[in-house]
Amino acid sequence: MSEDCIFCAIVSGDQPGHVVYEDDSTVAFLDANPLAPGHTLVVPRDHHERVQDMPDDVARDVFRTIHRLVPRIEDAVDADATNVGFNNGETAGQVVPHVHGHVVPRFEGDGGRPIHAVAASQEDLDDDELAAIAEDVRSAGE
Ligand code: AMP
Ligand code: ZN
Repeated sequence: MSEDCIFCAIVSGDQPGHVVYEDDSTVAFLDANPLAPGHTLVVPRDHHERVQDMPDDVARDVFRTIHRLVPRIEDAVDADATNVGFNNGETAGQVVPHVHGHVVPRFEGDGGRPIHAVAASQEDLDDDELAAIAEDVRSAGE
């Protein structure tokens, strides 16, 4: 638990939250400023700032909870689809530094946009540039 972390406080029960699911390692609660009815945040109980900070087992548990909750949320608010995503780091728009997956219900004709809308424009990279980036990513894992 991290002092001054609002999500740690919700996990511990020190702050109120509309909890929709909890298990040994994860908690899910409604976003207080929802982008749509049913907008839900899925968090690990333990405080980790970014996706890459979570141990493998915790990362698996977070995705397992998302996987379980998506159909329940879609059913509950009668959504047609959902966007699922993480703002991972301040530059990417992460405001609360406790990793959280957003599940945002989507409705036919809601006027929203796909997750591609996070970028201001599309990069024009040729095949050689894509190959060089792919090689850099592969070798970063060695
Ligand atoms: P992010 O920009 O990905 O860090 O998103 C943080 C999200 O947390 C925002 O969508 C906020 O509306 C939401 N949020 C902040 N405080 C609370 C809270 N006390 N309870 C529920 N959701 C919150
Ligand atoms: Zn925290």
